[in-house]
Amino acid sequence: MATASNKTNVTSAFHEEKISGQNARPQIENSTELLALLSAEGIITSVSASITTTLGYAPETMAGTDILALIHPDDVDTMRLVLSEIAQTPGKSLSAEYRFRHQDESWRWFEGSLTNFLQVPGMGTQVGIFRAIIDRKPIPPAQGNGTSNFEHFVQFYQTDEFLLNIVSNFIGAGLGSGETCIVIATKAHREGLEERLKANGLDLTLTCTYGTYYSLDADEMLSKFMEGDLPEPERFFETLGSIIGLAAKGRGRLRVFGEMVALLWSRGKQTAAIHLEALWNDLYNLSPSFTLLCAYPMRNFTGETYSRQFTEICHHHSQVIPDENYILLRSDERLRAIAQLQQQANSLEVEIVERKEVEARFQRLLESSLIGVFISDFAGTVLDANDAFLDLVGYTRAEMQMGMLQRDILTPPEFHHKSLQALQALKEIGSSETYEKEYLHKSGKRIPVLIAVTRTEHSDTCTGFVLDISERKELDQRKDEFINMASHELKTPVTSLKGFLSLLQKLLTTPGEEKALYYLARMDTQVNKLTKLINDLLDLSKIQTGKLDYRNELFDLQVLAQEIVENIQGTTQSYHLVFESSSHVEVHGDQDRIGQVLINLLNNAMKYSPLAEKVLVRLVKDQDKATVSVQDFGIGIAQEHQQKIFERFYQINDAATKTYPGLGIGLHISNEIIKRHGGQMWVKSEKDQGATFYFTLPLA
Ligand code: ADP
Repeated sequence: MATASNKTNVTSAFHEEKISGQNARPQIENSTELLALLSAEGIITSVSASITTTLGYAPETMAGTDILALIHPDDVDTMRLVLSEIAQTPGKSLSAEYRFRHQDESWRWFEGSLTNFLQVPGMGTQVGIFRAIIDRKPIPPAQGNGTSNFEHFVQFYQTDEFLLNIVSNFIGAGLGSGETCIVIATKAHREGLEERLKANGLDLTLTCTYGTYYSLDADEMLSKFMEGDLPEPERFFETLGSIIGLAAKGRGRLRVFGEMVALLWSRGKQTAAIHLEALWNDLYNLSPSFTLLCAYPMRNFTGETYSRQFTEICHHHSQVIPDENYILLRSDERLRAIAQLQQQANSLEVEIVERKEVEARFQRLLESSLIGVFISDFAGTVLDANDAFLDLVGYTRAEMQMGMLQRDILTPPEFHHKSLQALQALKEIGSSETYEKEYLHKSGKRIPVLIAVTRTEHSDTCTGFVLDISERKELDQRKDEFINMASHELKTPVTSLKGFLSLLQKLLTTPGEEKALYYLARMDTQVNKLTKLINDLLDLSKIQTGKLDYRNELFDLQVLAQEIVENIQGTTQSYHLVFESSSHVEVHGDQDRIGQVLINLLNNAMKYSPLAEKVLVRLVKDQDKATVSVQDFGIGIAQEHQQKIFERFYQINDAATKTYPGLGIGLHISNEIIKRHGGQMWVKSEKDQGATFYFTLPLA
């Protein structure tokens, strides 16, 4: 934007320079300031000598040039406006910013004013004073810059070997043609370079003595101008400017190889590196021409993170040279490499799209009001959570952010082991199985939940998904209460039924009443079945409420098993029950309950082996425990059901098993009884190959 000002200083400077007449050349000491005299039409009549240092032109060639021809197309309108504005009022001055075309075709920023002295007697000219804006980087020429006397190359490389070859060619050629060379590099690179230069026959002691080869440590140089994380411009100009000034003295061109930028980059100081690149460009604007070579190891640019900075780095250089993987290729290989890169870019795009979809899905999950989602560290502190989770546990987001949501606070002590098990699974296989536990609401209320956790990718946190199952638990409880109540209510009439049955059996003693007795016997069997069912249901509800009582007596397991096998053998002729036992086995526990387990296993063995004739019962004793096994030769159990048959109400629901009556609670009760005695229960089986059930009891 153009701004009007009273440029009294312009007038006085003008007079001080004693410019009188259109052909006098303005003398300006400051090499960054440009003075131009213009005709009423904007044609340059004379410019200061500083045009050479600022824009690269010889001053004598400029007379007759339209100033607009030197201005960037986007700034031409501004200058036109300024010229027409000041033309209206004698002595008027307007300032604005313009880009001037350098002789090398690049654009340089200037800030400056144009003043109308056309009407001043003896002058009749317009005066332009422009000051180079040095902290703004030059804009590279649109294409090529063969005419430029400043080259700022950037070389990417994969291996040190390749880099040292490039640098030794660059420096070797410079030294060979009498140019002064400055190397600002790491110790290792300087040594590697010197070795190569020597191998190429260059006498470094000589070149150093003649002051044409400067070898400087990159780290040491950085320490001279770095301030915190950024280079301090003035100290940079001071340090590098004096070195370059000294090296250039009396000689022609300079070559510089520098890797301070690469050092900064490799230390994660990308912004500092980019600043330093810009400072090098500015330094050129102030100093005699030199050629600068920078080099970056390509490995520092992998991944998406650096793509923006990579582009910026490239923009700061007049020439970008790819790494050896590219340079060493023939043209057909290059095409292939480009195609490959395009392909990689495409697949990256696909990956990004896919990742976005996953993120969107996760976001929807986070917004769910049904599933609580939390992210916690492995120590159990919730770091983030959705509203559903916070509602569930009754804490606010602010409380979560203060770190108040911790495993020990949210989980009641009796569920800690479940959380720790899940944590272990997380560490070992990356995710836990779904499990049930309770959360402690802030109000102290317990909330039953179903929970699953998975390790969050690329981080030391895990993501948990939580479902409030209070309603299901309540239903379960109501079901249990119903079973408990129903079995109690049934028990009394069935017990009376049983009593009256035996009374009737005793009364019917007269001959000829055998038929009635036969029917009574059949009724008795059915009532016994009913009694067993009711007892099982009662046991089940006692287990659920933890009220199943156990006696603790010392008894001989062998005697008990022998008795049960014989009793059951007495009720069946279809099966041959074989009992094998070596010796007496004394155990502590509830004899009736252990007997109940064995009866249950024997009944199942016969029930699920309709075509077999034999059931084997074994009792084996080892050092600290007795093992009882019941083996049948029936329909067997497929692997996938073998764990689940011990859960309550679990029945195998395939065509072969569907026809067998039952409630699916016998094994659950048996397993609970054995666990309460400090033993274990399991099965070995294969489908259609019979089954062997085992249980152990600790020895007395
Ligand atoms: P149920 O009253 O159904 O027999 P259980 O708890 O005793 O209930 O057994 C659970 C399920 O395990 C049965 O439904 C059956 O499918 C299977 N099962 C139990 N014992 C055997 C066996 N000896 N052979 C084959 N399947 C068996």
